Amino acid sequence: MHQILITLLSAIVVLLILLPGSESSGHPDRKFEIGKAYPLDIDFEANQLRPLAKDEKLIVPQLKWKEHTVKSGESLAVVFDKVGLSPGALYRLVNADEGTKSLTNLRPGDILKFGFDENSELIQLIQPKNATETLVITRTGGTYHSNQETKSVDTQLNFAQAIITSSFWNAADKAGLTANQIMEIAGIFGWDIDFALDIRQGDSFSVLFEERFVEGEPIGRGNILAATFTNLGETFTAVRSKSGQYFDQEGRAMRKAFLRSPINFRYVSSNFNPRRLHPVTGRVKAHRGTDYVAPVGTPIWAAGDGVVMKSGYNKFNGNYVFIRHSSTYVTKYLHMTKRKVKTGQRVKQGQTVGTLGGTGRVTGPHLHYEFLVNGVHKNPRTVKLPQAQSLKGAAKAQFKKHASERLSQLSQFSHFIADNSPLVYNRS
Ligand SMILES: [Zn+2]
Repeated sequence: MHQILITLLSAIVVLLILLPGSESSGHPDRKFEIGKAYPLDIDFEANQLRPLAKDEKLIVPQLKWKEHTVKSGESLAVVFDKVGLSPGALYRLVNADEGTKSLTNLRPGDILKFGFDENSELIQLIQPKNATETLVITRTGGTYHSNQETKSVDTQLNFAQAIITSSFWNAADKAGLTANQIMEIAGIFGWDIDFALDIRQGDSFSVLFEERFVEGEPIGRGNILAATFTNLGETFTAVRSKSGQYFDQEGRAMRKAFLRSPINFRYVSSNFNPRRLHPVTGRVKAHRGTDYVAPVGTPIWAAGDGVVMKSGYNKFNGNYVFIRHSSTYVTKYLHMTKRKVKTGQRVKQGQTVGTLGGTGRVTGPHLHYEFLVNGVHKNPRTVKLPQAQSLKGAAKAQFKKHASERLSQLSQFSHFIADNSPLVYNRS
């Protein structure tokens, strides 16, 4: 009985081992039965064509691109010829619509991108105009259409400050300001500070300005919104109004009747060492004017609006120009290479009246500049000058509120930097 049972059980075990397992799906030898359905692992929804979103453009497929940078003297016809396009193609493209006509105003450095299909047909022409604007001409159904694509500009605040150790230019440059911004600052404070001769070690400045971004990339600087400049212990403050003029925090115009120096400070040899000898005579002497040593040909500006009293030449003054600004004020400019104004002519502040030279009794080229008040020589860099124009009434109240907001932004940046120095804000 036992033997029979053992034999039976053994037979069942052997049978179980020989029989194919019922859990064998997925086995490589699996056979599919005809007429039966099997599920497939394909996500059909993911392969559906997606409808274009609003503002989305269909990408022109598989174009071969040729890029050309316009050289001096190259016309559009020359460029087309160089990329292998016929005069006929040029004609059709330029006359397609109003936007395509602008292509004829090419300037050296302009970039044109030509997109060709597999038959070497021009399908798309792209011309980046500037950081935000691009002209896109696309061929659809045999004709060209232009489209001006514009990216939005994001404006943020940025800040720079420095203490001057060698020169204003070097300090401002190190602080990250551009050449344009440095000249702008000298312009904003040029009625109060003689940037050519009066900048000293220990002077300092701070500037709040706009920084412009397109798609997160900085594309350039905007306006200077507020600035302070401390020169020889005196601090000057300027804030840009909404109309684009600069006033101090009390609403007095930065622009005044006279520039402190009649010459661009960039050209003037530094007299940073106050004990330096007279640049022309080689000794320190009583002198009724101010001497600016700069390269021959440097433009000389009228310090204020006025009428040319005399534009002439003599052996002492060389070529000279005298300007009467009012019954009180006269300015004189001596030793010029060339005079650019005539006696009796009306001149504007900042207008070039001549160029620096070494004519007359001099030992080297320089501008000798005199400032007379009621016929008496005064130091043009320190003389008390007529009051600046001031905002009044509601405009003044409104500006003062605006100015205090700007100046508090400026001081916030300034403290932030002082606490976390060295720190550069917003610069990539
Ligand atoms: Zn002199």
